Amino acid sequence: MSDDTMTMDEAAWRARLSPEQFRVLRKHGTERAGTSPLNAEKRPGLFVCAGCGQKLFDAGTKFESGTGWPSFWAPLEGAVATSKDRAFFMTRTEVHCARCGGHLGHVFADGPRPTGQRYCMNGVAMAFEPAK
Ligand SMILES: [Zn+2]
Repeated sequence: MSDDTMTMDEAAWRARLSPEQFRVLRKHGTERAGTSPLNAEKRPGLFVCAGCGQKLFDAGTKFESGTGWPSFWAPLEGAVATSKDRAFFMTRTEVHCARCGGHLGHVFADGPRPTGQRYCMNGVAMAFEPAK
């Protein structure tokens, strides 16, 4: 854990986040596919953590995966961390914010070049900051 790791108790997160953000970020929830306005976001800019504001993904790495969730082929360096998620009898790689630990989504090995990775994110777990 680095010095800038942010920890807050559950009540503090509940007060800070919307109910849907809390469900996804703090309870490993998944938003319904196709519901995030960030699916259609195509401007240059940065996607940041809705929990703590950490910069997560550059819009230049976003691609249309057809899944209904915002998808990226690479995170910003050091922005996210991963862990194994064995829920539902499958092993998936869970992606969370490196700063606040908020659950963002999962990463799969069926993405496009150059990385071959598909970071399948919950839009509600992020906010978009258009480039100036
Ligand atoms: Zn965060």
